[in-house]
Amino acid sequence: MADDSDILDIAIIGAGPGGLSAAHALTQQGFSVGIFEKAVSLRPIGAALGLGERGYAAVKEISQDLANQIYVQGTNPQQVLLMRPNEEILFSDEAPMAGTSFTWLGWYDLQTQLRKMLPDSVHLHLNHHLIDFTNNSVEEPVKLRFKNQSPRLAKMVVGADGYHSMVRQKTVGDGAPLYTGTMTWRGMIPRDEIETILPTIPFQEGAGFQMIVGNQKNFWIMDAGSNQVAWTGTALQSSPEKSESVVDTLVKTFEQWPAIVQKIIRSTNPSSIIETGVFDREPVSQWGDGQRVTLLGDAAHPIRPALGLGATLAFEDAVALAQLLDGVNPEQISAVQTALSQYEQDRITVTTPLQKQARQQGAASHATDRADRLKAGLEEALANRRQQ
Ligand SMILES: Cc1cc2nc3c(=O)[nH]c(=O)nc-3n(C[C@H](O)[C@H](O)[C@H](O)COP(=O)(O)OP(=O)(O)OC[C@H]3O[C@@H](n4cnc5c(N)ncnc54)[C@H](O)[C@@H]3O)c2cc1C
Repeated sequence: MADDSDILDIAIIGAGPGGLSAAHALTQQGFSVGIFEKAVSLRPIGAALGLGERGYAAVKEISQDLANQIYVQGTNPQQVLLMRPNEEILFSDEAPMAGTSFTWLGWYDLQTQLRKMLPDSVHLHLNHHLIDFTNNSVEEPVKLRFKNQSPRLAKMVVGADGYHSMVRQKTVGDGAPLYTGTMTWRGMIPRDEIETILPTIPFQEGAGFQMIVGNQKNFWIMDAGSNQVAWTGTALQSSPEKSESVVDTLVKTFEQWPAIVQKIIRSTNPSSIIETGVFDREPVSQWGDGQRVTLLGDAAHPIRPALGLGATLAFEDAVALAQLLDGVNPEQISAVQTALSQYEQDRITVTTPLQKQARQQGAASHATDRADRLKAGLEEALANRRQQ
C-alpha cells in the first residue's frame, strides 16, 4: 500500500458511487489510486436510488462480481400502486419492471458494497476535505491541500466530489449549481418496524412501489432491499432553504394526504431525513484543466433525478476514463492530456443531451397532468411487457 509521502498516479476526490467505481476501474489498469473523502466516517444515509439495466451494464464492465453483489442489496419491484392524494387509484397491477434488472437500493448499501470490494491497494482517506490544489508546471504532479491534513501529490486528479464540486470551481469555475425549484425529502425505515402501516397492496404481495401524485407534490414509497422501505417526497419551493423542523415541514406539506404518508414521516428518525434541493448545471465543453485534472459523476454533469441516471452516468464515466487511460504512462503529460481530453469529449457527447432531457422531464414532474401521464406510461409499459 502507498505511504503518505508517495506520489499517487491518481487521486480521486470523493467516495460516492462515482469516486469508488472509478477507483475500482482505474486500479484494474495498474494505477496507484488513493481516494480522499471529506466525511469523517461513512455513515448510513437515508436515501434509495433506482439502478436499471444500463447502470448494471456499466458496473459489469468493471466487475461481474461487483455487479452481482450490488444487485443482491436491492429489490426488484413486483407491484405498483399509483394514486392521487384523495386515494383515487389510477393504477394497481404488476410492476412493468418486475423481472427486469431494475432495483431500488439504499444509497449507503451501494456505497458500502463499492467500498468493501475495493482492492487492498486502494487507500480510502476519510476526513480529507480538499480545499485547494495547485499545479505549478505541467511537468510536476498536482499538489492537493486538505483541511487539517498533510498535502498529497498526484500525477492525475479526478474530481468526483458531487454537485458542489470544489475541483470544478478551479477547473470550470461556473459558481454554484442551479437550484431547479424542487425540494426533496428522503428517508428510510426498517421494513419490519412498519409492516403494520404498509397498505395491503402493493407491499404485501412482494416488493412494492407506491406513488402518490398530487398537485405539484409527489410522495413515493418503495421497498429498497435489505429489509428497508425508502420514501421520497418532492414539492415546489422557491428556495432550497432547509427547514427548522423537517418533520413539521413534511407534515404540513403532505397535510390531508393518505394516512400512510403521515405515518411514514412520523416513523422515520428525524435526524436521518435528508432534505435537499434538486440542482443541475448548464453543460460545458470541458471539465478539467486540460492537463492532469478532470471530473466525473455529479461534479461533471449534475443531472436532475427525473431520468434516474445519476449513478449510472457516474459508473459509465468510470469505465470510459479507465479505458482511455489504459496503457497511458502517467509521467507522459501529452499522453495524459490526450486521454483526459478524449474522455471528456466522449462523455460530454453522451451526458449533455441527457442533462437537457432530465431538465425538461424534471420540470414536468410537478405538472398538473403528471398523475395521468404516469398512469398512461405504466399501462403502456405493462402492456408491452405482457406482449413480449
Ligand atoms: C432526490 C434524488 C433522487 C435520486 N435518485 C436517483 C436514482 O433513482 N438513480 C440514480 O442513478 N441516481 C439518483 N440520484 C442521483 C445520484 O444520487 C447521484 O447522481 C450520485 O450519487 C452521484 O455520485 P457521485 O459520486 O458523482 O457524487 P456524490 O454521490 O455526491 O458523492 C460525492 C462525494 O464527494 C465528497 N466530497 C464533496 N466535496 C468534497 C471535498 N471538497 N473533499 C473531499 N470529499 C468531498 C462527498 O462527501 C461525497 O461523498 C438522485 C439524486 C437525488 C437528489
